[in-house]
Amino acid sequence: AMIEPAFRALGLDWRYLTLEVRPEDLPAALAGARAFGFKGFNCTIPHKVAVIEHLDGLGESAKLMGAVNCVVERDGKLVGENTDGKGFVSSLREIADPAGKSCVIFGAGGAARAISVEMALAGCVKVTIVNRSSERGSELRELLVGDVNAACGGALEVDFVPWDGTYEIPADTDVVINATSIGLYPDVDARIALDTETLTPAMVVADVIPSPPETHVVRDARARGCKVIDGLGMLVAQGVIGIESWTGQPPDAAVMRGGLEEVFGA
Ligand code: NDP
Repeated sequence: AMIEPAFRALGLDWRYLTLEVRPEDLPAALAGARAFGFKGFNCTIPHKVAVIEHLDGLGESAKLMGAVNCVVERDGKLVGENTDGKGFVSSLREIADPAGKSCVIFGAGGAARAISVEMALAGCVKVTIVNRSSERGSELRELLVGDVNAACGGALEVDFVPWDGTYEIPADTDVVINATSIGLYPDVDARIALDTETLTPAMVVADVIPSPPETHVVRDARARGCKVIDGLGMLVAQGVIGIESWTGQPPDAAVMRGGLEEVFGA
């Protein structure tokens, strides 16, 4: 919905195909991608981790996260990248510089991991992970405190807060991110346990949910005067990074967002 229109707008006669691959067929699919001369591809669950052993190299953040969602052919080598967090950071940069910021992230799954690692690499100074399961929350905290902090100079402050009850955003927070799956279609009325009274106009509030993009988080944050990034913004931004890596040309983000809005009915 967004990739092929972007190719067309660039004047490229390229295709972006949806190919379903069973886990046991992953090695053959990778050999196929090489044989067909693919410039790259995206991969999703259940292949984000398993694909790594079939690649020739990894980008810095994909290596730290241990997950790949975008593969790029460079000089005959297949390199794994993770564009989920990069997409978030690039949408944020349109509004604010991540450097020096303090952020609160709800969730500790794949999206939270990608966003927190990329925010740390972009110079954010404090990450607070708020998650329902302590096991996953602590695991992400360990990753950030250890390898990620070492990769970005050692000045990162990391907190994990178990999410029981309504969370109040600390007043010194700059960026608030819903990186859970709460609000995703069809559970559109689900609300995250967040005290919206603690959101202030100085905060940037983001939601990863692309469908529907108008989540309760997005609406509540707008009503409180915050700057808002919706899940479509992040999805388009990661697509932009993928297309630019594959083609060497920057695609038209407005064309891409338009394509997605048709699908998600925004
Ligand atoms: P995961 O399954 O890895 O993680 C889900 C997270 O949501 C976990 O932290 C989980 O908490 C939390 N969660 C789910 N339901 C509840 C609940 N009822 N109460 C409290 N916490 C809850 O998913 P991903 O991280 O891969 O994806 C999350 C969302 O991000 C998806 O909806 C996906 O669509 C979106 N996404 C958007 C992208 C974009 O570009 N816009 C890119 C990537 C993802 P717990 O650990 O306690 O189970």
